[in-house]
Amino acid sequence: MALLFRGARVVDPRVGLDEVCDVVVRDGLIAEIGKDLSIPKGTTIECAEKVLVPGLVDVHVHLREPGREDKETIRSGTRAAAHGGFTAVCAMPNTSPVTDTGSKARFIVERAAAEGLVRVHPIGACTVGSQGQALAEIGDMLAEGAVAFSDDGHGVQTSGMMRLVMDYAKQFDTTIISHCEDESLVGKGVVNEGVVSTRLGLPGWPSAGEETQVARDIRLAELTGCRLHLAHLSTAGSVAMVRAAKAKGLRVTCEVTPHHLFLTEDDITEDYDTNFKMNPPLRSTEDREALVEALTDGTIDCIATDHAPHAPHEKALEFELAPFGTTGLETALSLVITNLVAKELLSWGDVVGLMAHGPRDSLGLPPVTLEVGQVADLTVIDPEARVEVNESFFESKSVNSAFLGATLLGKASEVLVGGRFALRHGKVVDA
Ligand SMILES: [Zn+2]
Repeated sequence: MALLFRGARVVDPRVGLDEVCDVVVRDGLIAEIGKDLSIPKGTTIECAEKVLVPGLVDVHVHLREPGREDKETIRSGTRAAAHGGFTAVCAMPNTSPVTDTGSKARFIVERAAAEGLVRVHPIGACTVGSQGQALAEIGDMLAEGAVAFSDDGHGVQTSGMMRLVMDYAKQFDTTIISHCEDESLVGKGVVNEGVVSTRLGLPGWPSAGEETQVARDIRLAELTGCRLHLAHLSTAGSVAMVRAAKAKGLRVTCEVTPHHLFLTEDDITEDYDTNFKMNPPLRSTEDREALVEALTDGTIDCIATDHAPHAPHEKALEFELAPFGTTGLETALSLVITNLVAKELLSWGDVVGLMAHGPRDSLGLPPVTLEVGQVADLTVIDPEARVEVNESFFESKSVNSAFLGATLLGKASEVLVGGRFALRHGKVVDA
């Protein structure tokens, strides 16, 4: 069956496209792009005032399956992804058990094929159980569909082990994703170390706890020649190091989260709302401004959510005991539109760069472009839609969002994955 997306602003900077035109999808592929197209039979999707872009991908998502299906499953997490405009997500390995063997990676791939509304690419652990003691079976996991490797949640604590990981990964030309957190510096830190941690009486998580490992891992990427992707950077110092590494021509990419772009430590008030407890923590205004600058000057390759669903009874604990993290899949695009596109800090082409091409390039995923013959993974965005972020808004099983109560501008209305709707008229389509 054919689909005709009529009258959208079609944007894909990779192929030099930014114009109002029509897109025809047939048999899961983009069949035609042009003006005044028609189809003999099929479905027409009126896209006036909407923006049609290559499918968005989130390279940093915690789907919680296996092990914590009360928080999220591959089913519910991919529903949330579709609701947020994503056609693909990369699943971090810190599940229970940790994704550290080929068969565990295959479980994710098979489960996603059976239950997922969008594509799911597993990320494997660097070390067995992400414990930092022994190399995991990187080759086996690659053969079963893993796309990159990370001990996200802990980070690889010793330089010697990180060197081994990178030497090994280099042989497969795969990407190591670094969660930069020196636990000997961070200790029990829960908020940015500084005035706010003092005022709130909470243990501080210093910028240096991140930056020392950013420096280390960039140096080790240089030594080993391994592709390095730095997760959820949060400080001015971190992005300055990435800028310098790129100027040197190193194979280093990085991501930043919406919560670090749009919130600061000053959003944590005396009510100690644990939805603002993140790892790394919300930082200073100066850090936030440096991240936005790095986003607009090309230092940052992608926006990734670090979607971290948690059960209400866990987030209801006191601040020091509650788990780290906010959900993110369903608010990321709206936050970017509200805070960056509507304020003319980013163009639609920039958004495609940061949420579609940059993420895929960072992890070496196959590109998705708006060209005839390409797989029809695409997202249609209604830039004028109003989004009330409340508990009933979410498709995720969890509602621990730092943006609860916000009113945002712009939302995905259609998501097409391989020519099949995962989202239609803004609503998730059950396959
Ligand atoms: Zn992490």
